[in-house]
Amino acid sequence: MIDKGNAADIVDFRQRLVAWFHQYQRPLPWRERYRPYEVWISEIMGQQTQMERVTHYFRRWVEQFPDVPAVAQAPEQAILKAWEGLGYYSRARNIQQAARQLVEAGETEIPNDYEQLRALPGIGPYTAAAILSIAFNQPVPVRDANVERVFARLANIDRPLKQTATQKQLAIMAQTLLDPLQPRHYNQALMELGALVCMPKKPDCTRCPVHMHCRALKIDTVEFRPLPTGKQKKIDINMACGILHHRGRFFIQQRLADDIWGGLWEFPGGRLEQGESPHQAAIREIFEETGWRAPQLVPFETVVHHYTRYRVTLHGFIGELSTAPKEPVLTAAQQYAWVTLAELSEYPYPAGHRQLVAVLRRENFPENG
Ligand code: SF4
Repeated sequence: MIDKGNAADIVDFRQRLVAWFHQYQRPLPWRERYRPYEVWISEIMGQQTQMERVTHYFRRWVEQFPDVPAVAQAPEQAILKAWEGLGYYSRARNIQQAARQLVEAGETEIPNDYEQLRALPGIGPYTAAAILSIAFNQPVPVRDANVERVFARLANIDRPLKQTATQKQLAIMAQTLLDPLQPRHYNQALMELGALVCMPKKPDCTRCPVHMHCRALKIDTVEFRPLPTGKQKKIDINMACGILHHRGRFFIQQRLADDIWGGLWEFPGGRLEQGESPHQAAIREIFEETGWRAPQLVPFETVVHHYTRYRVTLHGFIGELSTAPKEPVLTAAQQYAWVTLAELSEYPYPAGHRQLVAVLRRENFPENG
């Protein structure tokens, strides 16, 4: 078994893996120069996000914010707008907080030290290890979901991955197999193998550069590894909001800084209460959040967005304020704006509200409404 294999086996494993990586790695933009700043951004963007999307957003981001000082100096609104569509906006806010922390300390680049990295917002043990090995070529093992799956198959681990004993085994395996001479390429090679060949479903063992070291392949258990854990059912959340317009302008408000989508913009709305219809919820929320009695609200569009643990259904209603609205009394927002249909797209929104804006734009509302 490779995790307990002899030294020659381990060297062979590393060499085959890294040679494969040099031939088949995807040409990702941060691999061109391995600038620490760029590796950091790519790692944060890559959390919970597919690589194709990351690449697109990454190029735009680096063009707009080429280094740590540029991120530190940018208005938060610009940071959130550049992140819009990637979700989990706390990641973007953490990047900016970290950049500001570094600039205040007189730094223009992220540190090459584990403790210093961990002291920055948004950098956990995995990200710190990934930055050290990929950006600075330090011999630190990196274990993401891809790597753990590959290990579970290589060593034919017959316990769920999350078990403490399994985690210990994986940690030892990661340390033992790590190539200390070329950790940057070795770690990426393992992750790339998991992403391109040893995939969750239908791994392509015929193309695997380390198939001769794979225990699961040898005893024909690949399809049963890793051992599945019980899947968590998604929690359903029902929300409603009101799209209010007056003389061709739409009312939007910016969420309070310290809430889950802090700093993003939205139409007034919120969760349905027990026994409430979406329509009733929209009317109540508008009143609670602005002090306005809602006008005649009609159904506009219902959109659904999936998060890792939640499925959020947002019922959008629309209504025209016929008389000039008085000043809103904001209770769930830090500021508001009345904007045209074209200007709506300039603001960053949580996913559901962004979908509503897209429908408004598509239908050229209210011109065609
Ligand atoms: Fe994964 Fe198959 Fe390679 Fe084993 S032989 S590591 S199961 S791709």
